[in-house]
Amino acid sequence: MLGVARTALLTRDDVDDAAADRFAALLDQRAERVPLQHLTGRAPFRHLELAVGPGVFVPRPETEQLVEWALAQLTGVDEPVVVDLGAGSGAIALSLAHEHPGARVTAVERDPQAVEWTRHNAALRAAAGDRAVTVLTGDMTDPALLRDLDGTVDLVVSNPPYVPDGARVPREVADHDPPLALWGGPDGLDVVRGLLTTAARLLRPGGALGIEHADQQGSALPALVRGTGDFTDVADHPDLVGRPRFTTARRSAR
Ligand code: GLN
Repeated sequence: MLGVARTALLTRDDVDDAAADRFAALLDQRAERVPLQHLTGRAPFRHLELAVGPGVFVPRPETEQLVEWALAQLTGVDEPVVVDLGAGSGAIALSLAHEHPGARVTAVERDPQAVEWTRHNAALRAAAGDRAVTVLTGDMTDPALLRDLDGTVDLVVSNPPYVPDGARVPREVADHDPPLALWGGPDGLDVVRGLLTTAARLLRPGGALGIEHADQQGSALPALVRGTGDFTDVADHPDLVGRPRFTTARRSAR
């Protein structure tokens, strides 16, 4: 950002005034809680560096574990059919395409601004040599979504909006992450209810489902998944600090 290599910065004093001013301005913005990833325009996620900025949710490290679980479900399947519902920057979908080269991945995003970032990152990854991810503008609760994939999908994965309305979130989240990526109704699970209907329809019998959730939803979400009657092997998984973080299940035979 200063236009000077890191080593030069450490060993010499040759940062020009304009660069120093730009850096000070960035520091001011960071002090005002603009996310660091918006200032650099980049967000690291697993093996990728995604383009991010205003209008798209900044991917979080917790979600890297959901991808780890998802990859484990795909081992031994040459060309798994994968759907990421609510893709945002494309962190999950593009990581799966990168780390499982045979995967046929579709990324769905309803927010017209966010989907521009999904498309941008998908184009960058395809140009870098990963198998192309199909990006679709659509609502994960739409009964007509991806009808052509009904009953054929090996894995549905999602980091949906799950923050309960009125919950306190940090200022940099409230001010800079898109509302559509955060808020999930009174108990935070409104979007997830529709997601479960879509997932039950898309997944083949035995197909895997993985959904990220808030740390207070470690019982409510598994109960909701069981309550549909469409899934077996419902389990919940903690993140690296031990907080309940995502629920997984398998589509039962119909
Ligand atoms: N974990 C996010 C946060 O930082 C919420 C993400 C979501 O709703 N999917 O608030």
